Amino acid sequence: MKAIISSLSIIIPVYDEEDNLAWLHENLMSMLTTIDYDYEIIYIDDGSDDTSFVLLEQFAQQNSKVKVIRFTRNYGQTAALAAGIDYAAGDTIIFMDADLQNDPTDIPMMLAKLNEGYDVVSGWRLHRQDTWLTRTLPSKFANWLISKITKVHLHDYGCTLKVYRRQVLQGYRLYGEMHRFLPAYAAQVGANIIEVPVKHHPRRYGQSKYGLERTLKVVLDLLTVKFLNSYAQKPIYVFGSVGILLIFLSFFLVFFLLIEKIFYGHSLVTNPLLLMSVMFTILGAQSIFIGLIGELLVRTYYESQGKSTYHISRRLNLDKKTAIP
Ligand code: UDP
Ligand code: MG
Repeated sequence: MKAIISSLSIIIPVYDEEDNLAWLHENLMSMLTTIDYDYEIIYIDDGSDDTSFVLLEQFAQQNSKVKVIRFTRNYGQTAALAAGIDYAAGDTIIFMDADLQNDPTDIPMMLAKLNEGYDVVSGWRLHRQDTWLTRTLPSKFANWLISKITKVHLHDYGCTLKVYRRQVLQGYRLYGEMHRFLPAYAAQVGANIIEVPVKHHPRRYGQSKYGLERTLKVVLDLLTVKFLNSYAQKPIYVFGSVGILLIFLSFFLVFFLLIEKIFYGHSLVTNPLLLMSVMFTILGAQSIFIGLIGELLVRTYYESQGKSTYHISRRLNLDKKTAIP
C-alpha cells in the first residue's frame, strides 16, 4: 500500500504552556514553509490555568488553518490527543508536544518515511533530555514490557512525536495513558511501523507535568489493553472454564473420599480433602459468576462507545467531528 499524503493534521496538546507557545508556533510555521503539503494545526487546550488559550486564540485569528479546542477542565494528554483525532481533517496525523522538547524540523524526514509506504513513523529519542532516575530509567522498563506484551517492538513508546496515516487510527477510544499504545493497536490492523531517531531538547520553560507515577499508570493501562484485546471478548469462556474445572475437581475429590469411606472405612468428615472440595465448589461457582458479570461489562463496554472521554467549552476554526467512530 503506497502512502500518498495530501494534507497534514498536526495535533498538539497544551496544558499551561504560555511561555512555550509563541516559540513553538513560530518554529512550526517556519517548518511548514519548507514542505509542500496542505496542513492544519489543532491545538487542544487541556484546561490550562495560564494565558495559553489567549495566545492560541491569537494564532487562530491570524490563520484559519490553526484550530483550537478548549476543554472545560484538565482531562489529560491522552484525552487531548483523542479530541485532536476526532476533529482532524487531514489524512496524515502528526502528534507533538507543546514544549518544543520535540523538534518540528524532524517532521519532513518522518513524512518522507510515510511516503516510502509506512503507516506509522514513531520518534525515538536517542538522546533523551529528561531526568535519568525518575523518567528515562522507568520508561526503559515500560518500553521493554510493552514490547514484550504487545509484540510490537519499539524503543520509545513514550515519545509523543509520531506520524500516522489517518486510516490506522480510526475507531479507537483512548483512556488513561493509552495514547502511547497506538502503534500497537495500529499493528493489529496490519500497519507497517518504523521507528526513526529524533531530536529531543530539554524543556525551556515550565515543568514537566509527569513524574515516576506515570510509568506505573502506563503499566496498569497495559494490563487493560491486553485484557480488552485478548480475553475480554469472551470473559465467560475464561472464567467459566476455570469454574467448571474447579467444580469437576471437587466432584472428583468427593468421589475419592466416598471410595475411601466405603472400601477402607476412613472417616469422611475428618478428612481435610472434604474441606478442599467444598472450597473448590464455592470458588468454581464464584468464577462462573465473575464470568457472567464480565459478559455484562463487555456488552456495556461495547455498547457505550458513544460516550466521550472529554468535554469541550470552546472551538475555534472548527465545526464538527470528522472521525468515524
Ligand atoms: N499535557 C496535557 N495535559 C496534561 C499534561 C500534559 O495536554 O494533563 C501536554 C503538555 O502541555 C505537553 C505534553 O502534553 O504539550 C507533554 O507534557 P510534558 O511536557 O509535561 O511531559 P513530558 O515531556 O515530561 O513527558
Ligand atoms: Mg515535555
